[in-house]
Amino acid sequence: MKKIGVLTSGGDSPGMNAAVRAVVRTACYLGMEVVGVRYGYKGLLENDYIELNMRNVCDIIHRGGTKIYSARCVGFREMENVRKGVQNAKEHGIEGLVVIGGDGSFRGARDLSNEGLPTIAMPGTIDNDIVCTDYTIGFDTCLNTIQELVDRLRDTIESHSRCSVVEVMGARAGYLTLNAGIAVGATAILIPEIPYDIEKDVIGKILRTRATGKHHFIIMMAEGIRFRDGLTVDQLAKRIQDETGIETRATVLGHMQRGGSPSVRDRVKASQMGNKAVHLLYEGSSNRVVVSKGEEIIDYDINEALEMKKTIDMDLYNCAMEISL
Ligand code: ATP
Repeated sequence: MKKIGVLTSGGDSPGMNAAVRAVVRTACYLGMEVVGVRYGYKGLLENDYIELNMRNVCDIIHRGGTKIYSARCVGFREMENVRKGVQNAKEHGIEGLVVIGGDGSFRGARDLSNEGLPTIAMPGTIDNDIVCTDYTIGFDTCLNTIQELVDRLRDTIESHSRCSVVEVMGARAGYLTLNAGIAVGATAILIPEIPYDIEKDVIGKILRTRATGKHHFIIMMAEGIRFRDGLTVDQLAKRIQDETGIETRATVLGHMQRGGSPSVRDRVKASQMGNKAVHLLYEGSSNRVVVSKGEEIIDYDINEALEMKKTIDMDLYNCAMEISL
């Protein structure tokens, strides 16, 4: 293999640049050229490329976002477009591809592999909702950002004996909210994976803890609750204020959670995974996903990985409930 491509797809996550850098540097080390495909699968369909070399990936390891841009490309679900992508790549001399993104991006990687372009995927998403890996690139930085932002909120709600309802990213998954909820000492945590009763789990909990002397409260809610149940943080804040008399404010953290310089953990994992992905291509593998399991970086067949079912860590959830008295 003389030339490979790399693209970032779906929502950006801190550490994607470190992953791209590791892919490029490893390819250079192994004597291969690298092309960055800009804007994910959209760039593959539009032949939007940028030459990457060992020097022009300098000074990106510490930057959030992705230097080669990302996009969602709905049309890539159609096999006709996947075939066009393979043809474009081959015409450009690209013999293998590394895809950095979430499970949607993995499906595109699987289709490209099946159509004859050897492709290796890597988990790059803040959500940590990918079943086959303990860890996704961006999760750690995002958690630290949420923690910092909510710590700031805590200073002000504590000063005024208020309640703060905070919406955290995670359209289908509550891992960010659960972990951040523990880290910020939330009184209640609402995530899509666990049924909840507002009266008992939120209002009742606030009243019970207030009776023991607590006078400020943080309620963490995954955005998946809004998507699925139509409950917004504003509605929940109003209900808490109406029923408890405690002044309550709502905050949507939004895209602030995605940005920022990647943490040490994200930089190291991204570097290890990028390195492994290129070695897999070099050895002739295709349709694999590089994952982190414990202290090891290993790989799975993408189809196998996509079939695994992720469940919420109930020990972690129960821990959160027991220590939020
Ligand atoms: P994140 O959830 O962190 O944003 P993701 O990779 O899961 O990351 P998606 O928007 O689901 O984000 O997918 C990214 C892109 O992958 C899509 O825009 C599309 O181009 C491609 N993709 C998604 N699903 C499929 C599919 N079933 N078949 C082929 N390609 C797909």
